[in-house]
Amino acid sequence: MLLAVGWLGRSWLLGAEPIPETSSYELDLAQVRQAAAELPGQKPLRVNEELVAEASMPRAAVFAGESFDPHPMVHRAFQVVWEDSTAVIDAAMGLAMAEEMAAASGGETTFHADAYDRVQAGLEGAEAIVFTHEHQDHIDGVAKGNASVLASRVRFNAAQLANTEALDLVGMPEALRTQGMPLAARRYAPVAPGVVAIEAAGHTPGNQMIYVGLRDGRELLFVGDTAWHMRQIRELIYRPRLVTDFILGEDRAATMAEIRVLHELDKSGEVKLVVSHDADQRQRLFDEGWIGPRFE
Ligand SMILES: [Zn+2]
Repeated sequence: MLLAVGWLGRSWLLGAEPIPETSSYELDLAQVRQAAAELPGQKPLRVNEELVAEASMPRAAVFAGESFDPHPMVHRAFQVVWEDSTAVIDAAMGLAMAEEMAAASGGETTFHADAYDRVQAGLEGAEAIVFTHEHQDHIDGVAKGNASVLASRVRFNAAQLANTEALDLVGMPEALRTQGMPLAARRYAPVAPGVVAIEAAGHTPGNQMIYVGLRDGRELLFVGDTAWHMRQIRELIYRPRLVTDFILGEDRAATMAEIRVLHELDKSGEVKLVVSHDADQRQRLFDEGWIGPRFE
């Protein structure tokens, strides 16, 4: 009986749960595109990234039911480029936080200090800095940056600002909490011409996806950590309960509903999804010319 209870507990904590066939999450591309055209100005020309850190996680933490072999996780920041301005999506993290996170997961990290420096320069030059969500590996970069320069550039959403536990974890300076212009409290909030933040609470309370419509007609959707790997979206494999409920404190139902919508959106081919921590997809995005490997 104890063995049976143990097995059941293990499968409940680590096993796979099917993603529901139907979804209550709304992502209306027509409304997203409308919001992208709301602010005056031309759409952006291109998107770049910087790879700030490389780490790993047990596969079983990413793909419920799979092995405990290490699975690579890349930590990046993205830069959206117009002729005379830029915006940044996610700020990655500094060395101390990268080491802290690696120690907590029992793994190692490779930190790219040169890339981190280029991200800091990119943040300081950006018109707007937005965040897919308020976890430390996405916001620590601004917390450790030059607060007096960054304060007016950060654009948190209201739920991100309200998550003081997450902001406190990185020691977010008061100026960055109070002096930036919060994003409009709208499901589809315009950030800049061609760029829209889409409400997507689940992974965190302030989770959002960032849409970028390029001038050449191509469209990208930065899904942050809603999934950690494209396979989760393509094959509908969600994180195990041990990770979502006991480590992340994630809203499982909301995140699964979002994954169903992303699965359908990916199948439609209308928008290129960009998954923050996916090392395999990262290479494909370079090869296919979606993203450049350096901030400008
Ligand atoms: Zn992350």
